[in-house]
Amino acid sequence: MRLSRYFLPVLKETPAEAQIASHRLMLRAGMIKQASAGIYSWLPLGFKVLRKLENIVHEEQVRAGHTPMLMPTLQSADLWRESGRYDDYGEEMLRITDRQGRDLLYGPTNEELITDIFRSHVGSYKDLPLTLYHIQWKFRDEIRPRFGVMRGREFFMKDGYNFDLTKEDALHAYNRHMVSYLRTYERMGLQAIPMRADSGPIGGDDTHEFLVLAETGESEVFYDSAITDLKLGDRSVDYDDWDQCASIVKEWTTPYARTDETHDDAKFNEVPEARRMKSRGIEVGQIFYFGTKYSEAMGATVQGKDGKPVPVHMGSHGIGVSRLVGAIIEASHDDKGIIWPEGVTPFHVGIVNVKQGDSEADAACDAIYKSIEALGLEPLYDDTSDRAGAKFATQDLIGLPWRITVGPRGLKNGVVELTCRRTGASEELPPEQAVEKIAEIYTPHHHTERPEPMAKRSFHTWM
Ligand code: ATP
Ligand code: MG
Repeated sequence: MRLSRYFLPVLKETPAEAQIASHRLMLRAGMIKQASAGIYSWLPLGFKVLRKLENIVHEEQVRAGHTPMLMPTLQSADLWRESGRYDDYGEEMLRITDRQGRDLLYGPTNEELITDIFRSHVGSYKDLPLTLYHIQWKFRDEIRPRFGVMRGREFFMKDGYNFDLTKEDALHAYNRHMVSYLRTYERMGLQAIPMRADSGPIGGDDTHEFLVLAETGESEVFYDSAITDLKLGDRSVDYDDWDQCASIVKEWTTPYARTDETHDDAKFNEVPEARRMKSRGIEVGQIFYFGTKYSEAMGATVQGKDGKPVPVHMGSHGIGVSRLVGAIIEASHDDKGIIWPEGVTPFHVGIVNVKQGDSEADAACDAIYKSIEALGLEPLYDDTSDRAGAKFATQDLIGLPWRITVGPRGLKNGVVELTCRRTGASEELPPEQAVEKIAEIYTPHHHTERPEPMAKRSFHTWM
């Protein structure tokens, strides 16, 4: 993409309404614009990151054996009356009446809708196990929307639902979700720690939240620092292998890690003092096993092996996709701007032409641009007539992990400059070598962190 043809409305001033870094940086980098309280338009750069996260979530869900679909945002109140949650959910639910006087609501979550689909179409234990999910906008009329997309009223969420014949099957589904979530966050360059949590209005006995450590997080968290050393890395996971999934879950749930809701001082004090950490965290996902709560209330049964109807065991699992955009920035920025992890960056490399209009510099930039595109990667070429200082400031603000700087002086010696956004380290090298380095950086040695070059895959590898 050439910046002169893009829409990147960066702000020079720090917006007064933004209290935390991610909100400030998303506004300044032209990623979002508030439409009304807690509701945002996603401008091109923000939209690109949101789509990248969505794609990673899809890929990892499909890899785990879960099936994508799409349910509507507006739901009938009657279904929620069946489960009893129409009254229980409270003021966070946005209730709407249509011209026929029918009660609708903008879905805050989808347990009722999916259970209705299930009971209409699935009749036998032979159809199980089944896990369906979608990624769709939700609405919760939060009393105090704040921190930009982190606590919005309209937000984008992956929610998945498993249907199983027995509790054991459903617990495997729980484990499978935990493992797939760990992989998802790792691919986004994030560490999200599963913490034992409270079940809240969804109900149920088994639940973990995934928290990204950040000072600005809304949850108070207590953990054994040993958990921060755990990494899935590139180990291969067989999601049908119950023992492997269970042992990964055990690895991550053995060290103490809880939110204030379930914190237990006596247990925490058993952790060696040097490893006892108290901090804050951002909730980026949650998984639940809730047994037969919805299936019993809504008659979602299957014919069991003995021919008798049995209510299915269910769980639900959510990832806050739009919140993650903010959470990644909270975890990865400096005083100059965002620093995107390579797996989610909106563009793979920035090209800065310090002397636009100089025929040699222009030609070198064009050549680099074409070779990067030929790798299946996306460059963002600043071909505007801004002065060099302004171009660098924009690059730092929008946080692309790599920058190639091209100018007449370097070109005289046959070199351009390759700069790493995270470390600030630069090296001078011939343009072809700079491109080779970029190719190397984005080659997937490490399948959990680096994206495969786009050219090698279809647009939606998860479909
Ligand atoms: P919170 O405790 O932060 O209000 P929740 O526990 O009510 O969240 P869940 O029902 O577990 O939320 O939803 C799944 C995920 O959706 C959460 O882990 C979070 O990442 C995201 N999410 C929930 N509420 C919001 C919101 N208002 N804005 C953005 N993302 C949200
Ligand atoms: Mg939650």
